[in-house]
Amino acid sequence: MLRAPRGTGDVLPSESRKWICLEKVLREISFKYNFEEIRTPVFEHTELFSRTVGESTDIVEKEMYTFEDKGGRSLTLRPEGTAPVARAFLEHSLGQGPLPQKLFYIGPMFRYEKPQAGRYREFHQYGAEILGSPSPYSDVEIIALAVDIAESLGLTGTKLVINSIGCPVCRERYRGDLIKYLSARSDAVCEDCRKRLSKNPLRVLDCKNVSCKAVTSGAPSMLDYLCEDCQKHWEGLRELLLRMGLSYEVDTSLVRGLDYYTKTVFELKWPPLGAQDAVAGGGRYDGLVEALGGKHTPGVGFAMGLERILLAVEKGEKPFREERALDFFVIALGQETRLDGGEKASATRDERIPAAQNAAPGADDDIFRRGFFLVREIRSLGLSCDFDPLRRSLKAQMKQADRLNARYVAILGEEELEKKMVSIRSMKEGWQKEIPLESVRDFIEKEVLGRGNQC
Ligand SMILES: [Zn+2]
Ligand SMILES: [Zn+2]
Repeated sequence: MLRAPRGTGDVLPSESRKWICLEKVLREISFKYNFEEIRTPVFEHTELFSRTVGESTDIVEKEMYTFEDKGGRSLTLRPEGTAPVARAFLEHSLGQGPLPQKLFYIGPMFRYEKPQAGRYREFHQYGAEILGSPSPYSDVEIIALAVDIAESLGLTGTKLVINSIGCPVCRERYRGDLIKYLSARSDAVCEDCRKRLSKNPLRVLDCKNVSCKAVTSGAPSMLDYLCEDCQKHWEGLRELLLRMGLSYEVDTSLVRGLDYYTKTVFELKWPPLGAQDAVAGGGRYDGLVEALGGKHTPGVGFAMGLERILLAVEKGEKPFREERALDFFVIALGQETRLDGGEKASATRDERIPAAQNAAPGADDDIFRRGFFLVREIRSLGLSCDFDPLRRSLKAQMKQADRLNARYVAILGEEELEKKMVSIRSMKEGWQKEIPLESVRDFIEKEVLGRGNQC
């Protein structure tokens, strides 16, 4: 039997409702903040990521799904969403429209990582970007959006951690001093960090290795190197956060693995998740659009991994209700059970599926047709409704209605049809009423208040 590739997964019907609910919440809150959705291709030219994400990052070095297409182009399944958004921003001259542009995306990303609990090679991210604003107000808006999303999903008690990694001007001086500091202690850091040391020394700061942590705890801090512009931005950010009532911690070891980040870096943590408790991460990337050949366009944004968010929501205060619910199930009954009379079931045939019924039109078909019309009518009222196309027995259909968690069942049999009535049964309250077929619409409108379980 073929299985899905390692590190990928199917979202089955039992889970898909959670995804739909999550995406609905994400879109609603984004629109509230006046962000518009952007959808970019799942693959891009490899160059987009090697130029922006940076050659010396883990992503480009080991984690990209890169392939050559039949035309000999090097393409890469997107490992993250910000560079594609910036590429689209440039390609479609969105910068010539009103600024800032506020965009969000939801979609799959791909990284060749070691699969582990909650980490996949195909994973999903929501992200939001503000392009064209250097103001710390935009940083705070992005942070507030992330906090708002977490709280709306029932993740209360999140912790905001912030840092500034400066700009290319002030970072250069810092980089030099950091390399000096780390080089003198290169024996004490892990092998990965020894390699990172000269190419991407900032990455050593967020290595989780215990001995690396011990080394970096005494390392110089970027905050002591900020240039005037970066310092002003950093102060503006902290003051605004305080005024907004968004408390934060400063963690100078918080850096991003991506080269194009500048100034603000932040992470939103939700402690109940344990060791991997970051639910959102982002920051400012003033150099990104320029790196792609555009005009200088400051940007700030964040992303959240949806698999981890769903895991968190389960543990939070508002877990999604996953039970499936149907408003109506219509049962049309002909000659009681038409489960195949003479035909012998073959070994491979699913016993639960009766043989095809190409029965000649007759009284039964009239009932089924009326039942089918009723299904359509109920759906036209905005209610969800289903029926059994396999014409099984009343008992089997009641069982199915039950399995589908139907709130009401409408039964249409020969007797009912003769009287031009339909029986409506409330599965929750237990009552059953006979309603004239012609007024069933009125009855449903009056009695069946509200919709089923929506998210
Ligand atoms: Zn600076
Ligand atoms: Zn290390």
